[in-house]
Amino acid sequence: MKPRNKTGLYIHIPFCRSKCPYCDFYSLPPGAARGKTDAYLDALCDEMKTGARAAAFTGGERPAISSIYIGGGTPSAVDPEKLAQVLETAFLYYPVEAGAEVTVEANPASAGGAFFRAMKAAGANRISLGLQSAVDPERRALGRTADFDGVKRAVNAARDAGFENLSLDLMLGVPGQTAESLEMSLSRCAELSPEHISAYILQLEEGTPFYNKRASLALPGEDAVCGMYRTLVARLGEYGFLQYEISNFARPGFESRHNMNYWRCGEYIGVGAAAHSFYRGRRFYYPRDLDAFIAGCAPVDDGEGGTPDEFMMLALRTADGLIYKDYESYFGAPVDPKYLEGAKRIPEKYLRIFDGGFALTAEGFLISNTVIAGIL
Ligand code: SF4
Repeated sequence: MKPRNKTGLYIHIPFCRSKCPYCDFYSLPPGAARGKTDAYLDALCDEMKTGARAAAFTGGERPAISSIYIGGGTPSAVDPEKLAQVLETAFLYYPVEAGAEVTVEANPASAGGAFFRAMKAAGANRISLGLQSAVDPERRALGRTADFDGVKRAVNAARDAGFENLSLDLMLGVPGQTAESLEMSLSRCAELSPEHISAYILQLEEGTPFYNKRASLALPGEDAVCGMYRTLVARLGEYGFLQYEISNFARPGFESRHNMNYWRCGEYIGVGAAAHSFYRGRRFYYPRDLDAFIAGCAPVDDGEGGTPDEFMMLALRTADGLIYKDYESYFGAPVDPKYLEGAKRIPEKYLRIFDGGFALTAEGFLISNTVIAGIL
């Protein structure tokens, strides 16, 4: 049995007001979810109360929870009072540590004062807001219905409700994006004074409308996207955000504790359709099926987790990299020499080897899969 890290609780809300053309997350637009929202939220609460469905994996344990994350989908697309009940149920039935990070995702198109106040009253202390781009034509191309002024109103409403920890999501490589428009997005994003910024490169996922019409999208080329990533890292650094993971930047002390737990191979329990878990060395997940979750389906075994390869790959996503003593305390054994040998094969432009560990450089982050494959 491996030593226990912290445990996160993830709650999935699979509803959105409309479906963005690039999105592959499990979320349903109103037409497909009609009349089922309350039944789903009730089912979430029931599972958190009893833990019965996941008991085959958890042994019925209620580990101390160090972070809660309500994601989606769009949590702000459902009735704030009902969502508050979901969060309150989590606090009632899990031993949530004092000072736990409690994040709720929100979409500027659906999150207003009532939503933020309800979340704050229910115990949330962090908001993750989907900005994607601060340039309106890019926002429209991504299917985002609120304009940038709407984003500003949502940020102000979150601050007015008392949230002092706000994260904004950005995207790189979106249709029509240029080096100049990215600079504009970054400076407008910084003007909103978030504590945290996540920035992901658009992926064309099979089956999405973007994938199907990829030939006609005005997508920036690969070199341009690499240039955008370098600009992102440089500019956010100038604005005072430290890069602590490939896609994540924070003011000191505001790194996402929930996500850091994933990258440290910590345990987490996911509740809801499409929610994944890692507990006591096993991975398991609920099917991407709203009706099945409402009907009481159990999670499905997804095999062993927390292997040395996985630990190494996740650690290399972070700016700290693979720290030998963390590996040793996780596995109770020294770092496998194959990783040390593999690391020596990687040019120092991509991998930094230092006393006690090794980490990807900014250039290494750009080709992280290749570097990790090279180490393995
Ligand atoms: S709001 Fe988020 S989860 Fe919903 S469709 Fe758009 S990208 Fe997907």
